[in-house]
Amino acid sequence: MNEIDLRHLRRCVELAAEAVEAGDDPFGSVLVGADGTVLGEGRNHETTSGDPTRHPEIDLARWAATHLPAEERAAATLYTSGEHCPMCSAAHGWAGLGRIVYATSAAQLTAWRAELGAPASPVRPIPIQEVVPGVQVEGPVPELEKDVRALVRRSFPK
Ligand SMILES: [Zn+2]
Repeated sequence: MNEIDLRHLRRCVELAAEAVEAGDDPFGSVLVGADGTVLGEGRNHETTSGDPTRHPEIDLARWAATHLPAEERAAATLYTSGEHCPMCSAAHGWAGLGRIVYATSAAQLTAWRAELGAPASPVRPIPIQEVVPGVQVEGPVPELEKDVRALVRRSFPK
C-alpha cells in the first residue's frame, strides 16, 4: 500500500459518492494498468439501471475481458471502495485480472448495514480469496473507513 494506491482508492470513494448522489449504492472502482495508466472507472448502477448486477467490479472485468490481452489483464490492478461480492470476485477470476486493493471489507459493510437496520444482502459476503484463491488482495485501509462508512450511511434507507 503506497501513495499511488491511496490516490486510486480515493478516486474510488469519489465514484462511490457519485453513485450515492444518483441514488445508487455506494461503490466505485478503478482499473489501472501495469504502467499506472487508468484503463477504466465505474460506479454502482443498480438502482438507476434497474439491474442489481450492475456492480462496477463486474462491469470493469467484462470490459477488460473484451478489450485487453490476457497479459495486460493479469498485470492490471483493480481498486475498489468496497470488497468484491462473490459475483464480482468470480468475474475478476474468470477475466484473469491481477491484484485487488479495496478500501473497506465486505465484513465491515455487513456490520454497518446491520447497524442501519438495512436488510441483509441476498448474497453471502464471502471474502475474495475464498472465491479466487490465486489473486493478490490488499485491504481494508483504515484511513478510508470513515469516508466509506459515511457513504453507506447516506445510502440507507433508499
Ligand atoms: Zn459485486
